[in-house]
Amino acid sequence: MWQVKESYTFAELENWSAVAGEVDPPIRLGVFGDPVAHSLSPQLQNAALQSAGLQLQYARFQISEEELQPALRLLPQLKFAGANLTIPHKITGAAFVDELDDFARRVGAINTVLVDGEQLIGFNTDGPGFSRAIRQEFWVDLRDLRVLLFGAAGGAGRAIAMQCAAEGCERLVLVNRTHEKAQQLAAELKPFFSDTRVTGPVARLEAVPWEEHALRFQIANADIIVNATSLGMKRSDPPLLPAALIAPHLMVYDTVYTRARTPLLHAAVDAGARVANGTSMLLHQGALSFETWFDRDAPIAAMQAALASTA
Ligand code: NAP
Repeated sequence: MWQVKESYTFAELENWSAVAGEVDPPIRLGVFGDPVAHSLSPQLQNAALQSAGLQLQYARFQISEEELQPALRLLPQLKFAGANLTIPHKITGAAFVDELDDFARRVGAINTVLVDGEQLIGFNTDGPGFSRAIRQEFWVDLRDLRVLLFGAAGGAGRAIAMQCAAEGCERLVLVNRTHEKAQQLAAELKPFFSDTRVTGPVARLEAVPWEEHALRFQIANADIIVNATSLGMKRSDPPLLPAALIAPHLMVYDTVYTRARTPLLHAAVDAGARVANGTSMLLHQGALSFETWFDRDAPIAAMQAALASTA
């Protein structure tokens, strides 16, 4: 019996029939990342494949930035159905596919690749997956929220920002370590926020510097804080923001899902805020990827159960 390995390398993908030709059901989907060991997508997607009775498996692939383009180009000849892209490939990956769907083009980042004959088509399910996650966790729609988004210019952050814009959220405040990137994104999103829906002295769309006094003001004018940075993935990471800034009226959503409660969520619970981690976004973006590959509803209950069993 050939076991699926924890992860495969690019060299193994190049030599795929010798490495995995005997694996049954065959591996025809995977996640490309660097690092990739933390990814729960295999548990999620293999549960979905099994529940749907599809005779395929999904695996992890440790792929560096230089290897991404040639790795993607191997997918059609290896008869893969598609792939997911994770850190750090979402933005660069968008340049390596033959076609982008509309939302992915606007985001400029992809997390899902569909193999269509010899062509690769790029999609972004992070944005819609985030929207569904917020509804599931907090019973609210993005359009009714004032959103303070950290990591706005990363792959996940851009998808979330674009989703907020597309759904016409009340207010969107963009924060990014490299502030210029947040400013650039704000300029791109300006057309979505041209009407003056919010009452009061605050702009509907702003890029603000990552500074305590600016954040204090923004938090008073926000309903939800979203962490789309990679801070919180490693135990050694510094806190996203000083705990004293978190107010009880907030919802706090951390897209990090490697731990049930990141330091941000611990601080938010202590402050009396409502919290959720990124597991629900993982679930919904994965379900949307599945639907992209197979053009059928994803077995959400089986996927949710698989994630719950990894907690
Ligand atoms: P990415 O494209 O590499 O973006 C990383 C973002 O984090 C950028 O905004 C970057 O800012 C910022 N950042 C990195 N190190 C930082 C630090 N030390 N201090 C402050 N900001 C820092 O990565 P990604 O794919 O968007 O992933 C970002 C996060 O989203 C990760 O935590 C990932 O787990 C999470 N995520 C979750 C899901 C889910 O389904 N739950 C899906 C996708 C992503 P600069 O622009 O200045 O570099």
